[in-house]
Amino acid sequence: MAQPTRVAVVTGVNRGIGLAILRKLASGSTGPLVVYASTRAGTLPEVIITEQQQQQSHPDVKILPAQLSLTEPTSIDALAARVAEEQTTVDVLINNAGVYHYRERISNADRTETLETNYRGTLRLCQAFLPLLARSQSGGRIVNLSSQAGRLRWFAPQLRPRFLAPDLAWEQLDALVREYDSAANARGDEVQTGWPPMAYAVSKAALNAGTRILARENPGLLINSCCPGWVATDLGGQAGPPPKTPEEGARIPLHLAFGDIGKTSGRYWANDSTAGTGVGKVQEP
Ligand code: NDP
Repeated sequence: MAQPTRVAVVTGVNRGIGLAILRKLASGSTGPLVVYASTRAGTLPEVIITEQQQQQSHPDVKILPAQLSLTEPTSIDALAARVAEEQTTVDVLINNAGVYHYRERISNADRTETLETNYRGTLRLCQAFLPLLARSQSGGRIVNLSSQAGRLRWFAPQLRPRFLAPDLAWEQLDALVREYDSAANARGDEVQTGWPPMAYAVSKAALNAGTRILARENPGLLINSCCPGWVATDLGGQAGPPPKTPEEGARIPLHLAFGDIGKTSGRYWANDSTAGTGVGKVQEP
C-alpha cells in the first residue's frame, strides 16, 4: 500500500544542519512529503532550486518556500496561518533555526536576539502549530534543536530544581529567563570566561524546559529536544574545528522526527559525545 503523504515544516533551511535535513527529506528517503522549507528570505536554497529545475527532486516530495523570522511574532503567526489555509494537518515540525554568539563580549543586543530566537520565537512557533499537529494521523511530532550548552550542569545548583520542576508553568519559566536577562542587562556586556556562553545556555535550557511543558500539556504528540552534536557549520565553527558534518548533525533530529522512538516525549536526546554519529538516546537535561 502506498505511504500517505505527510506534511513537514522545517526552519532555517538555507544553510548548516537545516539544509542537510532538507536535502535528506528531498531525497525521498523519509517517504512522500510536502515540506514547508522556511528561511528568513522566504526563498529556497539554490541547491534545491537547481535540483527542481533539473527534475532531480524526488517525485513524491514537494518542497515549498516559506518565510519565517523568529524574532518577529507576526511572521511566526503568518506562517502557521498560511499552512492552516493550505493543509488540514501537520505531521512534523523541526525547529532547527537558532543563533549562537561565541565571542569575547556578548552585548545586550546579542543576548536579546539569542533569547528571542532560540527560546521565545521557537516556542511561539510550536504553540502556533499545535492545532495542526493534533490532527496528524501519524502522531504529530515536534523536534527542537537544542544544545548540550543548555544542560543544567552548567548552571548554579539552586537553579536546577527550578528548571526541572515537574509542574513548571509557562509563567514560571518566563520568570526564570527574565531573572537572568534583567540581571545580565544590569551588568552590561557579558564577558565570556569560558564555555558555554550564558545567553545561549539559558536560551537552550529554557527551550528544553518549554519542550517538557509542551509534552506534558499535549500527551497525544511526541515533542522532544536534542543536541545534534558539534557540527561543522557557521555556528558550530565559532569555537574551533567541529568533528561532525552537517549530514551527521541531521541524524538525531531526523530520527526524532521520523524514526521509531516509541512513545518518548518531553525528553532531551543526544549522543554520549558531541562527536558521536549515532541516533542518540535520552540524556539528562
Ligand atoms: P547555522 O548558523 O549554520 O544556521 C542557523 C540557521 O538558523 C540559519 O538558517 C539562520 O538563518 C537561521 N536563523 C537564525 N536566526 C533566525 C531567526 N531569528 N529567524 C529565522 N531563522 C533564523 O547553524 P547550525 O546549522 O549549526 O545550527 C542549527 C541548530 O542546531 C541551531 O538551533 C543550533 O543552536 C543547534 N546546534 C548546533 C550545533 C553545532 O555544532 N553546529 C551544536 C548544538 C546545537 P540566516 O541564514 O537567515 O541567518
